[in-house]
Amino acid sequence: MNSIVNAPETFSARIPTVEFEERRFQVYTDRQLDKIEAIQSLPEETLFEMKVVSSVLPFRVNEYVINELIQWDKVPNDPIYQLVFPQREMLKPEHYERMADMHRSGADKKDIQAVAKEIRDDLNPHPAGQMQMNLPKLDGEVLEGVQHKYRETVLFFPSQGQTCHSYCTFCFRWAQFVGDKDLKMASTDAEKLHGYLRNHTEVTDLLVTGGDPMVMKTKNLVQYLEPLLEPEFDHIQTIRIGTKALTFWPYRFVTDKDADELIDLFARLVEGGKHVAIMAHYNHWQEITTDIAEEAIRRIRATGAEIRAQGPIIKHVNDDADAWAKMWKKQVKLGIIPYYMFVERDTGAKNYFELPLAQAYEIYREAMKNVSGLGRTARGPSMSAGPGKVEIQGIAEIKGEKVFVLRFLQGRNPDWVQRPFFAKYSDTATWLHELEPAFGEEKFFFEDEYEAMRKGNG
Ligand SMILES: *Cc1c(COP(=O)(O)O)cnc(C)c1O
Ligand code: SF4
Repeated sequence: MNSIVNAPETFSARIPTVEFEERRFQVYTDRQLDKIEAIQSLPEETLFEMKVVSSVLPFRVNEYVINELIQWDKVPNDPIYQLVFPQREMLKPEHYERMADMHRSGADKKDIQAVAKEIRDDLNPHPAGQMQMNLPKLDGEVLEGVQHKYRETVLFFPSQGQTCHSYCTFCFRWAQFVGDKDLKMASTDAEKLHGYLRNHTEVTDLLVTGGDPMVMKTKNLVQYLEPLLEPEFDHIQTIRIGTKALTFWPYRFVTDKDADELIDLFARLVEGGKHVAIMAHYNHWQEITTDIAEEAIRRIRATGAEIRAQGPIIKHVNDDADAWAKMWKKQVKLGIIPYYMFVERDTGAKNYFELPLAQAYEIYREAMKNVSGLGRTARGPSMSAGPGKVEIQGIAEIKGEKVFVLRFLQGRNPDWVQRPFFAKYSDTATWLHELEPAFGEEKFFFEDEYEAMRKGNG
């Protein structure tokens, strides 16, 4: 006990730390493709394609990802390369050709942006009724940057966290990153968030998301989270932070100027009785291969915060059972809890990344077979669709009919959760709206109620 009494004041000062050098965060966007040394040896055609695609879809990558996560001798098949660098097939051929012509003819920036906007409008920028249906109100006023879809969990999009340390090519939040103001969802100040949470005692979980909230300065995060230690917020038991910084910029937790402050914030929240969960977005074991990534994990866990891993299954990146099994094993070894395998949403470059549900399920099952029970905490494959999160539980044959066995992991109506239901098997369906009820039924059990909810919300 003596050591605690005599310990330095801050938590971060008490965790023994391996020495890492501070790094400057160097990032490249579509306007700096020619400054990225690593790609200059790629074929001319590839560089042109990158330029075309990145004038429509968001592109941003930092030097750590380029130098330490991508295995350049495997390019273009390297999973991390596919995760961050634009590929021609990410646009539909007609969209690609249209934008390529603009570049070939030397069109000016304004015209390129106008065409980019038209193409984006074609790409389902806000899937699953995000814009219309999840708008909570405080004192009769709509709260920007807050979503309340499932009873117990509120999503918060802090305005300072609407970007990421790099962008994933498949991101369903891509519309927020391309500077299109009416597509953004950013918030709202701390007081309004707190006002909402104060009034909603049914909420147990606050999920801070983005973009990536870890691009924020710690002092901003403190402003949002520290007040939740007051007794009036006792109902908020869990604070989750969705982030890909453990992959894209682990220095955030180790050597950045306010890294220690961040670690101290986690420790204070834990000491104050909150469950702090870092919801780490991972797609591939190759993201967890550097010393700095392991050190970041170690420092977070030392505070008592949990790290849970989730991420989508993506063609060209991780459509491979061995890669999933290897990732889950590595996570478990480092004390991370595998949480969700998602199916990619119907937006953006989905045509390039999508995988039939049947195949996603087979990959999930194969990977599950190869990990111990501690790795089998990942649920999925799960679709975050309008009515809720729907999991493919299995493929079965019932009285001669081949079916998908499905269940809600989350539902707009909590009563839908965990009820098994059935869809006709399909080799090709990639999303819930392509599935039909099995056994000759006309509708899924939740459809009428969901339709009524949609109308009710206008
Ligand atoms: C996934 C999700 C949550 C959290 O759901 P859990 O099953 O508790 O992880 C909350 N809100 C939205 C909109 C979500 O998509
Ligand atoms: S880190 Fe998350 S929010 Fe950022 S681009 Fe990737 S998927 Fe999107």
